Amino acid sequence: MNVLSLNNNAVAKFSGDEFIIYCSEFREFEEIDNLLTYINKTLKEILILENKKVYITTSIGISIYPTDAKEIEKLIVNADSAMYRVKEKGKNGHLYFNDEMVKLLQERANIESAIRDSVDKNLFKMVYQPQVSLYTGKITGLEALIRMKNYRYTPDVFIPIAEETGSIIPIGRWVIKTVIEQISEWLKEGVEVKPIAINFSPKQLMDKSLHQYLNNILDQYDIPAKYVEIEITENILIDNIEETLCFLNKIKNLGIKMALDDFGAGFSSIKYLSTLPIDKVKLDKSMINKFTSEDKDEVIRSIVQLSHCFELSFLAEGVEDEFTMLKLKACGCDTIQGYYFSKPLEVEEIKNIMNVTFDI
Ligand code: C2E
Ligand code: CA
Ligand code: CA
Repeated sequence: MNVLSLNNNAVAKFSGDEFIIYCSEFREFEEIDNLLTYINKTLKEILILENKKVYITTSIGISIYPTDAKEIEKLIVNADSAMYRVKEKGKNGHLYFNDEMVKLLQERANIESAIRDSVDKNLFKMVYQPQVSLYTGKITGLEALIRMKNYRYTPDVFIPIAEETGSIIPIGRWVIKTVIEQISEWLKEGVEVKPIAINFSPKQLMDKSLHQYLNNILDQYDIPAKYVEIEITENILIDNIEETLCFLNKIKNLGIKMALDDFGAGFSSIKYLSTLPIDKVKLDKSMINKFTSEDKDEVIRSIVQLSHCFELSFLAEGVEDEFTMLKLKACGCDTIQGYYFSKPLEVEEIKNIMNVTFDI
């Protein structure tokens, strides 16, 4: 920091692991390039802390006065968003702020505002996608998926932002309440209800009394826990493994089944299959596409067998055609979810489809 502070530069710690370098009297881009080279070279040196090697990576965002902004606050915001783009692209690099980032910033602000509006005015709804048994062709469960009523943003776009801003906490509770309320209504109407899977974001671990909330809502509507399933992903184990497992076991002890979602999309360690309190594995669409198209059925067959060894049922996600469905069936897969059988459906459509037998 001392060296960087020379030559009309000022360096300051901004927050946690963020620093600002302010370069006044910048004349040509080469000066910035030199500075970047210097920072990278200096931080590349490996530190030894408590006998351990420590590697430092840097993500640098650059904004320039007056082209990118005239006010200091805006310059910092712009440099910050350039830095976040570097982080998104895998860290360790630098980017100059540009017009595309202005658009991204605007879009991000729009999504945040849509989330706030939807939370405040209760403008979400749930749709339900059938999961079909490859033994009977019958629906054995449904996955509940959230939608915004008044905005075009899909959950893969707004859920990650709701996770960052913390809105996932009220949204997560709303989803639980809405699904259980729905089960109660269907039961009253005499619909043969199947277990409904609710997606659970790792950020909901911050909602310390969530299992109590879940239990209270089940009690309030007098719904047996067997009608609810929770879908988790392996990144739930990123921090505090012990605490997380304790939390998951509390939910499990309510009698709720648990599924490991997106298996094959991340590290997919076999360890997860044995340590997490799960009953089902959901193989990610990307794996199915890869192995069925490359004719490597053996890979799928092995993963299915492995899951069965751990006494887990096996569901394949995102199945869009008969060819893939038949391959998965031949590999021993138990259940399928995908557009081939049905897209996610509105509440009113569920009643008519619940007892259908699909061709398998
Ligand atoms: P996910 O949990 O992996 O959900 C499966 C996604 O795949 C859904 O997208 C579903 O509509 C889509 N899908 C199903 N079958 C097919 C198919 O055959 N082909 C293709 N291309 N796609 C198919 P959706 O509803 O847009 O949700 C995206 C993601 O958003 C979900 O991925 C989940 O991670 C998240 N999400 C959705 N609803 C909720 C929710 O209520 N809470 C939380 N925390 N996350 C949610
Ligand atoms: Ca899911
Ligand atoms: Ca999934």
